Amino acid sequence: MNCCDSFGNCTQGRDCPVRNERIAQAMKDRDLFWDVMEGLLTLGAIVGIIVSLCFMFGYIWYRVTP
Ligand SMILES: [Zn+2]
Repeated sequence: MNCCDSFGNCTQGRDCPVRNERIAQAMKDRDLFWDVMEGLLTLGAIVGIIVSLCFMFGYIWYRVTP
């Protein structure tokens, strides 16, 4: 398992299990990051629509009331 030396060189090259594990972990982290980003964007869009609707109705209310 300990195929990598202290200088970061690996005796197993591309098939290094440590390296593959690190790449798999990075891919998982990136997926999680984009899941969070997508959630935030959806939340932001919903909040933006609600705020603009409130602003529109508030403006209409302001113009209608004497
Ligand atoms: Zn290695």
